[in-house]
Amino acid sequence: MSSRRSFLKYAVVVVVSAVVTAAGTWGIALSMPAKTVTVEKTVTTTVTVTPPTTITCLTCGSTYVYTPIGTKSENFEWTCLRCGYRWKKTYPEKLYTQWREAYLTADYVRDYTLLYLREIKGMKSLPDPLKVEWTGGRTTPEGLIGSETYAYKTNGVTVTINYPVTLAKNIIYKITIESQGKTVWEGQLFQRQFTQK
Ligand SMILES: [Zn+2]
Repeated sequence: MSSRRSFLKYAVVVVVSAVVTAAGTWGIALSMPAKTVTVEKTVTTTVTVTPPTTITCLTCGSTYVYTPIGTKSENFEWTCLRCGYRWKKTYPEKLYTQWREAYLTADYVRDYTLLYLREIKGMKSLPDPLKVEWTGGRTTPEGLIGSETYAYKTNGVTVTINYPVTLAKNIIYKITIESQGKTVWEGQLFQRQFTQK
């Protein structure tokens, strides 16, 4: 008798503990948020590196850069005509040629020439072209084909640029700079090389 009772008691304990365990499991399952599934993903990004098409200042990024063409320092010693930074670098032939043969707009030639004269030739009395207001523009007479003429003015200074309509690499830009009615510089720009007349 006593052994039967102790067996029942044991059996009840086993059943109760089984129910509690099951309820506990359900309780956990119901209160848990949706399981977060972490999937490791390999992302392959193809970065297309566009080769530079022109030469710019290593400090300020300006395209108004100068190298002494026709000397041993050509495509080696560089000067930024905008910020004055100087650096030494030999650019790949293809990029260097591209830089020399690029088409330059008239207003770019205006600024480039004045910056060159101020920075390289020490003509500091000429205005900083990037800090003044310019007026003027294309003055090519109607019906005249084959060449373009531009005239720009600021504070008593006039910059006149004339160039033939031809392949960019063959263009010789003729430039005249007048200050207070007097010619202060006359020359040309051909493939990034300035020559005084
Ligand atoms: Zn610079």
